Amino acid sequence: MKKTFSLPRVLLLFALPALFGGLFSSCGEESAESTLFAMDTAISLRITGKNAGEVMPLLEEELRRLDLLLDAEGDSLSSLRETGSLSDPEIAGLLAESLRISGETGGAFDVTVEPAVEAWGFRSGNTRVPSDEELLSLLEKTGYESVRIDGDEIALPAGYSVTFGAVAKGYAGDRLRAIAEENGIGSGVLSLGGNVALLGKKDEKAGKGWSVAVRAPEGGYALTLELSDTNAVTSGSYERYFEKDGVRYHHILDPATLKPAETGLVSATVVSRNGLLADALSTALFVMGPEGAADYWRSFGEAQKFEILLLTEDHRILASKGLVPLITGVEEPYGELVVIE
Ligand code: AMP
Ligand code: MG
Repeated sequence: MKKTFSLPRVLLLFALPALFGGLFSSCGEESAESTLFAMDTAISLRITGKNAGEVMPLLEEELRRLDLLLDAEGDSLSSLRETGSLSDPEIAGLLAESLRISGETGGAFDVTVEPAVEAWGFRSGNTRVPSDEELLSLLEKTGYESVRIDGDEIALPAGYSVTFGAVAKGYAGDRLRAIAEENGIGSGVLSLGGNVALLGKKDEKAGKGWSVAVRAPEGGYALTLELSDTNAVTSGSYERYFEKDGVRYHHILDPATLKPAETGLVSATVVSRNGLLADALSTALFVMGPEGAADYWRSFGEAQKFEILLLTEDHRILASKGLVPLITGVEEPYGELVVIE
């Protein structure tokens, strides 16, 4: 059933990312902050705990390691692209999980779209509009069903390649969270581009969660969510695009056509304790469009514990019912809320 109502417009308050690293301490607890550039995006990390100052370098080191390992231009994925094979336990594990999600999303999420990402120039930065014939021939070099994994060994057919552009930040968020928690950190915000991993609450005593803003493509923010101990991941057509002859082409490709997915959405947000799943699904739901995404949540949301929030080109907010009470502020022209249930 669809319910439609307006939410009040409220003043949005959100923390500005720190402009530099730092260490602050009060009541025996330390807070450490760091900003860096990795995975093609600005990253800000803020953690609080007894030894936050010692833990922060571990997080930075892990981020740099994953930046190299998962980069489409890095040694591992370049070698896989050039030779069609690679032996790497971590990449094989991430790829196996990616293939599983591809199967469940009917191929809306597919890491083998890489040759098309390159043809559009999103990897090199030399953006161009490939012809229909070129995209048609690239369809023969894409498709997750053709990837083979045997233990640590990965094998791709000739011409195939892989990008972790849609999951690397989600996976990194999970890894950083695990390292922080293993080292006794119970509170923090790990912000990796459109991905936010939240540890604990903003204020444990008051029971208050973190305020996470969902961007509006026009600039500024469409709404805020109050979230604790989870991840919020947004895929938006405004994140990376170019314009040619008055037409805008963005970076989220429909694996069925290898063209930018045009489904009436401007962004898809997934909230889940599993950051990798949230990242893969935010991309997949964008490709599926509003009806497909809502049906997907109805089929898998409860079992896999995720909630979704979609922003449409006509300024509607579609949110799965578990997320509705967590919407704390809506900015105009957004206002109409459709509850997915
Ligand atoms: P995200 O911002 O997480 O939605 O990821 C988008 C990035 O993932 C793009 O820049 C491409 O590198 C890659 N990509 C684009 N379309 C897809 C897709 N349908 N499935 C998997 N990866 C994709
Ligand atoms: Mg993604």
